[in-house]
Amino acid sequence: AVRQPDHELDEPFYTSCQEPAIDQPREKAAMVMLVRNQELMKALKTVQSIEKHFNQWFHYPIVFLNDEPFSKEFISAMNATVSGEARFELVPKKEWLFPEWMDVTNAQASIKAQGEAGILYAGLETYHHMCRFYSGKFYTLEALKDYAWYWRIEPDVEFYCSITYDPFVEMAKHDKVYGFTIALPEEPRTCPSLFRKIADYKELNNIPTTELWKATVAASWVPWPLRPFMGWFRHRDRSGDGWSLCHYWSNFEIANLDFFRGKDYQRLFEYLDKTGGFYYERWGDAAVHSLALHMLLPSHKVHHFEDFGYRHDWYYQCPANAPNGQLFESKLLPDGPYSPEREGGIGCRCECDGRRTRNFPAYCTNKLKEPNTARRLSMVESVRSW
Ligand code: GDP
Ligand code: MN
Repeated sequence: AVRQPDHELDEPFYTSCQEPAIDQPREKAAMVMLVRNQELMKALKTVQSIEKHFNQWFHYPIVFLNDEPFSKEFISAMNATVSGEARFELVPKKEWLFPEWMDVTNAQASIKAQGEAGILYAGLETYHHMCRFYSGKFYTLEALKDYAWYWRIEPDVEFYCSITYDPFVEMAKHDKVYGFTIALPEEPRTCPSLFRKIADYKELNNIPTTELWKATVAASWVPWPLRPFMGWFRHRDRSGDGWSLCHYWSNFEIANLDFFRGKDYQRLFEYLDKTGGFYYERWGDAAVHSLALHMLLPSHKVHHFEDFGYRHDWYYQCPANAPNGQLFESKLLPDGPYSPEREGGIGCRCECDGRRTRNFPAYCTNKLKEPNTARRLSMVESVRSW
């Protein structure tokens, strides 16, 4: 059955090139990148790309975070590349390493076993620290306390289109909390008990079921009397309903810090942390953020930046160009080369091939947008996208 959205829909903020409003006031916001010294080259590529396609007009600060001190080379290379302020911040060990109550020997043995079982990145202790950090401790960092908004970036990220408006200003104006570009299914072996834990929390605290929760959780087709025997079936709540594994890919996020610093989210994080699942399993921050948002937010507070051309690793989103892109005369926007392959889209001077909007399955995008969009992908679009 097609669910009727019961509130505002989510639309792109703009669907064509704008003249960047460089005199408009900024939000209290920063771009943030957690990164290691040895990732300098890939991190530089990302910063060059975001500067070229956005920040050369808006000059937001970029906060670099590291669990080790940044090298002189890193600092000078970044200082030479940014158009706003660059800040270099050390993540305190207390926010990065195992929580103090944890049996470290036990946890390390579990991490070793997860690695031997071939679970993606799960054999790396630092990867567990990183996921836990981004799930909770990140938000309460002293270094971010003056900001209300963050835009997360990573090494090896590319932006393909000109971003000609201020996404922080638009997020604030449209009462959004969280913005994403790409949605994917989580690797199930990283988080066998995550969904059950969160679903239990929801039950225990009588949190009402949102439209987003319904969108990502499918009612079970298993008859009631048989459900107690479904214990072997992972990613189900106590009534047998199952999680789609869909989540927003968190290497891109534009989001409100106050939501994640707030007590609802932080209480949930503390609860999850206490279960040990960041180490005894390999819970990703993307899955944690998404399930939390789906539990706690009305769907109109989530925004899909479908006008952004974005790539990380091997997945990309690439809107076709807006019809006015070529004709639009701007003192600020770069002239080509940008893809003339397909117009009639919503991207601004995108350099990617707009004939292919995405190179990953549209399943999760469709599913998670269901509550707040009127426009479902056509069959052709879904098939073409994979
Ligand atoms: P993936 O995107 O899931 O493959 O994970 P990444 O390896 O890209 O890690 C996610 C982010 O955390 C990237 O920005 C990395 O630079 C950063 N990161 C991962 N592990 C560490 C670490 O041990 N130290 C620091 N400083 N950054 C890390
Ligand atoms: Mn990454």
